[in-house]
Amino acid sequence: MVKGTYSRLKWIISILAVWLVCVGLYVAVSVNISLKRATDELNDAGFLLHRLISQRVAQHDAHLTTLVSLILAGDGGQIQPLSQVSESIIHFYPRITAIQEVELSRQEVSAVTDVRQVMSVPENARVADYATITSAIFAQKAGEGKSYVSPSLGDNYLLTKKVSDTNPALSIVLQIDPQRLVDLEEVPAWLTMRLQLNGTVVMERVSEHQRSNWLSMPSFSRMIDSRSQPLLLTMERPISVFDLVDFVSLAVVAAISLAALLLLAYIIRQRREAQRLQAAALVAEQRSALLARETRLAHAARVNSLGELASGIAHELAQPLTALMSQSRAAERLLEQAGIDNTLLKTALASNVREARRAGDMLKRMRDYISNRPPRPVGVEVNRVVADTVELMRAELDKRHIALQWELGADLPLLMADPVELEQVFNNLIRNAADSLEKLNGAGPEITIETMRDGDWVRIDIRDNGPGIDDKVLPHLFEPFFTTKKDGMGLGLALCSTLVERVGGQIEAQNNAVGGACFIVRLPVQTRETGA
Ligand code: ADP
Repeated sequence: MVKGTYSRLKWIISILAVWLVCVGLYVAVSVNISLKRATDELNDAGFLLHRLISQRVAQHDAHLTTLVSLILAGDGGQIQPLSQVSESIIHFYPRITAIQEVELSRQEVSAVTDVRQVMSVPENARVADYATITSAIFAQKAGEGKSYVSPSLGDNYLLTKKVSDTNPALSIVLQIDPQRLVDLEEVPAWLTMRLQLNGTVVMERVSEHQRSNWLSMPSFSRMIDSRSQPLLLTMERPISVFDLVDFVSLAVVAAISLAALLLLAYIIRQRREAQRLQAAALVAEQRSALLARETRLAHAARVNSLGELASGIAHELAQPLTALMSQSRAAERLLEQAGIDNTLLKTALASNVREARRAGDMLKRMRDYISNRPPRPVGVEVNRVVADTVELMRAELDKRHIALQWELGADLPLLMADPVELEQVFNNLIRNAADSLEKLNGAGPEITIETMRDGDWVRIDIRDNGPGIDDKVLPHLFEPFFTTKKDGMGLGLALCSTLVERVGGQIEAQNNAVGGACFIVRLPVQTRETGA
């Protein structure tokens, strides 16, 4: 009981474990696919934005170059004033919030750089806090562009270019609003984007999407292609478990895989059970075959010991029989010598002598049979042997109220056979017929014995009007130890067939057309001729 519960629990745990592994695998694969898709989308958006910003940033350099050229050419040519060009640049490029021209001068003694604003478009533009960056701008080479973060300008950064390497020197400064470097509509809502200049964040757009803390976000990071504005573009894609796993399909997969596993487990269990039952049936079959063999062996051992017992009894009986015979002979002789003519006495003594001899002969042959000595065939009259057998059995047949009919054929040839063995054959057949008649209901039990000449054979039929022989029993009748009787030994017919075949005869069994069984014994006539 406990073992059964334990094994069932083990089964359930195994199924659950396999199911969890299946569901886990599905989750792992879908997370992997979703993550890859998210990373690909982020990279696509990243490369697009990177190209866009790089192009726009390059335009700033182009503007600077134009403005510097204007200043350099201003000394001698008919060109538009710097402020007009600057105004149109600011007009078309709103991300450039101001353009200024500054003069930088350095005192030889103090080595401190001063800055003086020469031009500013628009005029009210916020003034950058040059204090910390003046020296750096002064140190730039002529024509070189550089970017600076200025806290007084908020997110805006400065892009400067020196016109000449003189002292004082002129420099063009662009104020750029990085928030307008990209149109926010160009940035997908699901990503967080940042631009950093020299380690300072100058632009940030945070995604509104939720993210799971335990998931690592796909990210993209790349420097903008510009020497003058070394902007670092970083992008992240916040991700939640709902982006990675489709819970509806997960539920469907979990349900289907659980159902499939349960079905599989059921089939395996059924198959195992069938195999177990088959094995148990095989074991039971083998055990019963073994038991049957053991029973037969035990039976054979009993028969064997019975044989030894019978041999002992035969030996013991031989002496009293011999005594009976010799005493009876002596009595016959005494009657004769005394001249007593008592027919009754003489008949009784003669019968004593005859029966004692017969019994002696039987015992001798029984001992011969048990001791496996070869039979001693002599010329026998079949009708005589039949009559002797019937005579011996009559008392028993009368007791069972069995009527005996016989029809003995005339002029049958003598046969070479052992008369005691033949008697044994007929005895067995008549006894079996009598046994079968016990079950008879209604009609009077009857045994018929018929002897006849049948070509080269003398044939003896022993019939009864019993229930006959079942078709299933018929093929096994002459097998040793085959019996349908509760206390039968199953040796009678096997012995009959051995004895009959030993003298070249045949024995067969069949059912009569009118009911009951018929045993037919055929003994060869030529046996006598050959033997004679
Ligand atoms: P046993 O008499 O010990 O059973 P036998 O070898 O003499 O052994 O007989 C074998 C079986 O043949 C019997 O158990 C019985 O079923 C069947 N049999 C023999 N003679 C007859 C008969 N005249 N009618 C029906 N069945 C018979």
